[in-house]
Amino acid sequence: MKIITHNENETKQFAKQLAALLKPGMTVLLEGQLGAGKTTFTKGVAEKLGIERPIKSPTYTLIKEYSDGSIPLYHMDLYRMENAEDEELGLDDYFYGEGITIVEWGSFMQDELPEEFISITLNVMDNMTDREIRLTAKGKHYIELLERLEHDNT
Ligand code: ADP
Ligand code: MG
Repeated sequence: MKIITHNENETKQFAKQLAALLKPGMTVLLEGQLGAGKTTFTKGVAEKLGIERPIKSPTYTLIKEYSDGSIPLYHMDLYRMENAEDEELGLDDYFYGEGITIVEWGSFMQDELPEEFISITLNVMDNMTDREIRLTAKGKHYIELLERLEHDNT
């Protein structure tokens, strides 16, 4: 699936649509260059979950946990984690926990990611404000989720 958003708010709105379909234990991978809108997208998801604490990029903390919404949200940023060992980080406790896990820069630790996920790539278009958002899914539940999202957007 692919959609174009024209400003930050549209990206958040789309993220909220996705959030409405997410279930506890699900994983969302966010890819795209710095400034593409990965954290903005996460803010939209958080808003839909009723999280009121401000979402800050966890670049220097690796994982931030928000538990004041309807479902816990685990926000990871794996930039700089290229050489780290999963065992040390305990990422599986999050992936297979009760919450929704959103991963920025999951490509840096591909081997440590769950088998099934929805993957979202944001691309900055030439005008600098449009974003092309591409979504792919791995695993039955995620494929179904993506089909619903696509249906809702056509
Ligand atoms: P990342 O986490 O990918 O590094 P951020 O979400 O922190 O990116 O930053 C994205 C920046 O791009 C924000 O300043 C946001 O206001 C701006 N922006 C402009 N247009 C869009 C759009 N269509 N979607 C998302 N963000 C946008
Ligand atoms: Mg970010």
